[in-house]
Amino acid sequence: MPYTLINGKEVSEKVLEQIKQEVNELKQAGKKTPHLAAVLVGDNPASMAYVNSKIKTCERVGVTSSLIKFETDVTEQTLLNKLEELNNNAEIDGYIVQLPLPKHISEQKIIEAIKPGKDVDGFHPVNVGKLVLNLPTYISATPFGIIQLLEYYKIPTQGKHCVVIGRSNIVGSPMSILMAKNTQYANCTVTLCHSKTENIKQYTLAADIIIAAIGKPNFVTADMVKQGATVIDVGINRIASPDTKSGYKLVGDVAFDEVSPKCAYITPVPGGVGLMTIASLLKNTLLAAKKEIYK
Ligand code: NAP
Repeated sequence: MPYTLINGKEVSEKVLEQIKQEVNELKQAGKKTPHLAAVLVGDNPASMAYVNSKIKTCERVGVTSSLIKFETDVTEQTLLNKLEELNNNAEIDGYIVQLPLPKHISEQKIIEAIKPGKDVDGFHPVNVGKLVLNLPTYISATPFGIIQLLEYYKIPTQGKHCVVIGRSNIVGSPMSILMAKNTQYANCTVTLCHSKTENIKQYTLAADIIIAAIGKPNFVTADMVKQGATVIDVGINRIASPDTKSGYKLVGDVAFDEVSPKCAYITPVPGGVGLMTIASLLKNTLLAAKKEIYK
């Protein structure tokens, strides 16, 4: 049977349309327009591109956005002072600090300085703790987006074996927690693999669902995937390509051409998970503006 391509563009468009409608309703009811701020440090091209597309998406759905830029050599204290200001600014509903940060700044310290109620990336320990305890919280955007894709395509997850590859704080770990939850588009038996996992193939070959968040092009190959599996590719890797004007192209962590014929469902890169990440960040921003998680 041919595989179903999970269309992140189609699903994210629907999510954004819904957000736009709700933002309009808030405005019509005379309520404040939701406002997302983004803090960007330095000139990492990938970070700049991510922040720009987040800001553009805000414009599309009628959410106000502010971009706060710092030079690479900004001190940790200056950044902490700015976060304090954002925490106390009633106009800002939620904000993100684009990662990675320069080495002289402690990412953990910065994340912990964000007021949990404004932490729309869901990275603060309080929000991560709430996720683990099944309490309402901001779910970090990439795992949140993946759950929405599974839901949209009604992909069977109950009782299935899900293998997550990668255990980062922002993708792999929260993803593994979500997939094990007692909820409709989860309830999986979860195996979490990482760089120290021995013979990763024995796990992936037994997986009904593989979620790859590694950061290594073509890591998941056809011989690692069982027939009929669902494969979610989180990876965004920039590789040299003589076929493109820019001289590079984006690929995922999955060798799409050889893996896709074995799949029931698979996400492309680009056009899959990445678009859902931004839509989910906007969803969290709306939740923040409506004070649905933190009063
Ligand atoms: P990360 O923090 O670098 O984590 C990578 C994870 O992969 C680590 O847990 C690491 O294991 C594991 N790993 C590395 N080599 C491995 C190997 N040979 N075998 C098994 N596991 C291995 O990366 P991340 O932030 O989670 O991002 C992962 C990828 O997703 C990147 O390509 C990133 O650009 C992309 N991404 C995409 C989106 C999106 O919206 N689509 C969002 C975020 C990230 P250890 O813990 O043992 O080191």
